[in-house]
Amino acid sequence: MRAMVFEAPGRPLRPVELGRPAAGPGELLLSVRACGVCRTDLHLLDGEVPVSDPPRVLGHQIVADVVGENRRVGVPWLGWTCGRCRYCLSGRENLCPDARFTGCDIDGGFAEYAVADERYCFPIPAGYPDAQAAPLLCAGLIGYRSLRMCGDAGRIGFYGFGAAAHILTQVAVAEGREVYAFTRAGDEEGQEFARGLGAAWAGASDQAPPEQLDAAIIFAPVGALVPAALAAVVPGGTVVCGGIHMSEIPAFSYDLLWGERTIRSVANLTRADGEQMLALAPEIPVETAVTTYPLEAANEALEDLRAGRFLGAAVIVP
Ligand SMILES: [Zn+2]
Ligand SMILES: [Zn+2]
Repeated sequence: MRAMVFEAPGRPLRPVELGRPAAGPGELLLSVRACGVCRTDLHLLDGEVPVSDPPRVLGHQIVADVVGENRRVGVPWLGWTCGRCRYCLSGRENLCPDARFTGCDIDGGFAEYAVADERYCFPIPAGYPDAQAAPLLCAGLIGYRSLRMCGDAGRIGFYGFGAAAHILTQVAVAEGREVYAFTRAGDEEGQEFARGLGAAWAGASDQAPPEQLDAAIIFAPVGALVPAALAAVVPGGTVVCGGIHMSEIPAFSYDLLWGERTIRSVANLTRADGEQMLALAPEIPVETAVTTYPLEAANEALEDLRAGRFLGAAVIVP
């Protein structure tokens, strides 16, 4: 089968021909229909998040047909957990210290075929075409977990308006919240995109919003946004860091945290997050904006993501 493999940090993915993987007990052999590209893939590529035992097939937002069966499943970032540790036993399998992640510890979906533990796969809502469903699996699921961490916040800021924020804006607006979208300075197209999805306001991340926010989610991997977001939220407000990696957070005055403001991260996802979000998405209904790339153009998709050259999400279609 054709696959794009990670060999070492700082090197582009390499097109290779691999043997078709074999499913073990409890695993599904999957024919990949689409696989979303995530900012985490850039962190893996850049060596900011380590990849186990390269060469490794990246890609953790897989929409696939189960080979030999008439059904379609989604494979998310969370690929396996121990089921026995204090985290697994308390509904926090996202924090399992032995968790294995798709497209990082387990070969992922930038390939024609993949294998996944059936217990961590989700059914894909019937109305979604393959490519449109793919971004739901990480941008959607981990974004949804981040949104839940904002509690009942009525005014929410999204810092970084990419794949996750474009999905969450639709969820938040449907829940009756007001969305404030922060993009890179000068990204008029991104701000227009956010307003088109229902954002009450869109501006640059170095601007103060017109109203104080009840909560903010930071999707951009930029540590300097933490004090900026703290300054934008009300006393008692929460700032959620939704990405797996962030540049160093600059020192800031305690005044910004004072007033019972909270900063927290969101790590990975639980299967319950996935079940909830994938049930909710078709009800709203969440519509994803995708730019598709053939498998061999995976490096181009990653560099376009880095440069912000598309709106919404990039999806590889093998
Ligand atoms: Zn991801
Ligand atoms: Zn565990």
